[in-house]
Amino acid sequence: MPAEPLAPRYMTRFRCIAERCEDTCCGGLRVPVSEAQWHRMQATVAGNPEASERLYQLVLPNAAGASSTEHAFIDMRPDGHCPFLDTERLCSLQRRHGDAMLPDICATFPRVVTRWGERVEVTGTLACPEVARLCLLAEDAVEPDSLPPELQHAFRPESARRIPLDEEDAYTFHADSVRAAMLRLLGRLEYPLASRFALLGHLAYALDGFYFRGTESFEGEERSGAEDQLTEVLQRFESPEVLEAGHRDFTSLALPGGPCVGLFTSVLKARLAAGRGERFTSLVRGVLESLPLGAGSPSELDTAWRTYVERWQRLEALHGEQVRRYFHNYAVHHLWRSPFTDAPSLLAYVFRLALRVGLLRLTLVGHPQVAALCHAPSPTPDAREQLDRAAVECFQLVAKHVEQAPDFLSLAEGLVGPGRGADALGKVLIFATF
Ligand code: SF4
Repeated sequence: MPAEPLAPRYMTRFRCIAERCEDTCCGGLRVPVSEAQWHRMQATVAGNPEASERLYQLVLPNAAGASSTEHAFIDMRPDGHCPFLDTERLCSLQRRHGDAMLPDICATFPRVVTRWGERVEVTGTLACPEVARLCLLAEDAVEPDSLPPELQHAFRPESARRIPLDEEDAYTFHADSVRAAMLRLLGRLEYPLASRFALLGHLAYALDGFYFRGTESFEGEERSGAEDQLTEVLQRFESPEVLEAGHRDFTSLALPGGPCVGLFTSVLKARLAAGRGERFTSLVRGVLESLPLGAGSPSELDTAWRTYVERWQRLEALHGEQVRRYFHNYAVHHLWRSPFTDAPSLLAYVFRLALRVGLLRLTLVGHPQVAALCHAPSPTPDAREQLDRAAVECFQLVAKHVEQAPDFLSLAEGLVGPGRGADALGKVLIFATF
């Protein structure tokens, strides 16, 4: 009998809050329709000329050429919302025709289902505000758990991402033990998150010579030697002396933050120009005004960097535990939700994670409400609630409107290049210090 799906605990608590939600599932997203689903949709409305015509008007063939998973796309409204939403912001397709009519992404959202060999893992996307709340705010939110049977109907196993744990592909075959080592490193809460990212970078660098996508180091007679080397590296990063030395070296680094501020500002401005809806626009405008960041001259970036550092110190002093939890939970969630085997190397993956965290840190301290909280003389329960609300807003809107955007993904790819060697490690360390 197959084991129950694994899930971080926040997903065992998730229930859609529907009309109480501050967003809609599909607002601002691209909604692909697979070929199989397109045929199911056509069959469902056959005999209903009006519904059929509407379907042909609003589901358009993939202009880039049809694939089995992106055969067509729903033609979203200019405001980014789905044309099938009714006046109560509920899905008219689901209301009239039931769940079977929904494209996979709509039926599954906000769940992200990955099949590692035979094991199924169900995580969530922080693009859903309720998932973001549950993931970021509870201390035990990212502990592994099993998904209870009553929650297993809520996704389509056949649409799960598949990662075949094929012995011929050493990168994916050993992914489980590598990810477990990364999770253990992230769990070393005695070190600041920045040091834990630096240690992840060093772990990735130590594996970089022989463990990456397409490696041939595990082939034939080389296999057992390469496996021993992998085990040795993973064990080395359990050693308290190695961790302590890595932390000490990293904290002695002093790197300028102005260029990172400039980079994150240009990312936010590019997404603002893409017109991503009222909530995102208002957040980004607030962040740019509060730091403040206008034209982005070098002196302005340095001033914004100093403001950023001062606010972080204040936030740490007032709400350190709370803020540390947001970012720790986010990083662990990311390891669950986004398999590192999607990246060509572990270094490239750790770099992308550090880049995302840097952008989130800038967005959070730039949030006007957080800026105001930094001036408070002492923490109060009300201030803690305001900070939680601001954090959920930042992480959710960045997840929805920035993290999966093609321009952001290609920026990350361009910055890290092939994602190998000392150069890539250096870039991890720069963003880890931010
Ligand atoms: S975004 Fe999340 S909470 Fe909101 S309606 Fe969609 S699934 Fe429900």
